[in-house]
Amino acid sequence: MKKLRLILSLLIVLALFSGLFVRGLRQNKELTKSEFLFDTLCTITTYSKSDSKAIDKAFDESARIHRLADFFDNQSDVSRINNAKADDAVTIDADVMNMLVTAGEVFQKSNGAFDITVAPVSSLWDFNSENSAPPGDSEIGVLLPLVDFDALTLDVSNMTVAKSFSDMKIDLGGIAKGYAADRAAAVLKKYGVKNALIDFGGNIVVLGKNPNTKDGIWRIGLQTPYAATGDYSEILEISSGAVVTSGTYQRYFEHNGRKYHHIIDPKTGYPSNQDYDGVTVSAESAALSDCLATAVFVMGKDKGTVLAAEYDAQLYFLP
Ligand code: AMP
Ligand code: MG
Repeated sequence: MKKLRLILSLLIVLALFSGLFVRGLRQNKELTKSEFLFDTLCTITTYSKSDSKAIDKAFDESARIHRLADFFDNQSDVSRINNAKADDAVTIDADVMNMLVTAGEVFQKSNGAFDITVAPVSSLWDFNSENSAPPGDSEIGVLLPLVDFDALTLDVSNMTVAKSFSDMKIDLGGIAKGYAADRAAAVLKKYGVKNALIDFGGNIVVLGKNPNTKDGIWRIGLQTPYAATGDYSEILEISSGAVVTSGTYQRYFEHNGRKYHHIIDPKTGYPSNQDYDGVTVSAESAALSDCLATAVFVMGKDKGTVLAAEYDAQLYFLP
């Protein structure tokens, strides 16, 4: 009896291994790995001859960006900026400076719709609990004057940043996932990966050709907000670059029959009220697409379309 069970288990193990082996050959060494970073699921899939070292190195780099940008970790560069006093020159990592520079450019071009200094006000909101309630108007009103990217001084040659007011805070939640996805792509390339798909919580970067299609084109389904998984509003076809979506459905709560979501209008301190639930942007880099998706969401269809055109970015509003 025992012997029979042993033989049966061995047969099952053998069957499993041969299945994996055949699948591996068929799919041209498709390797997928996921990690939980930036409060979301981050997945890298590579199609190449290289081993899993490239993916591991790409995740190491993504985790490093996460540590630098982590709002809740006292040691992060973001926290060191947030805890600094007015006019203190805080030395930061070059990657944080890159994010600040891109965020600053989109702040200017979006007329303040994208503003990483929204943090004092956005911290009043808790979008992670279903039972949250909105903060009071007066609480928001008191902190709103602290929201102004122009009150940050970036010194790119000395790699420092200074705030005009001690109570100013920054939050890189609207750019860090995209930036990390770009960095992950750069690391994969460095380790010889030619074809890959990076998806950091809806911040997508494609590298090379899609080996699963004849034309090598990547087809990215844009999920219809609040619909079942796999219900797509649009299938986007891209051969390079990034696709990033910002939506109301990613973090929100309902209170007294009203929905409050995590994309804040820096002018009001309240969630940006629009007649769509998501914005998808496809531009050269994911960091830029990430900023633009949030910015366009807040700006609305008309002004958002003008901004996207300035960057040659494709734009989709999700119903
Ligand atoms: P995303 O996840 O890219 O849609 O960006 C939303 C995140 O960015 C929020 O969870 C906040 O951390 C931050 N954020 C919210 N509103 C803004 C805004 N108007 N400008 C910049 N960052 C924002
Ligand atoms: Mg964004």
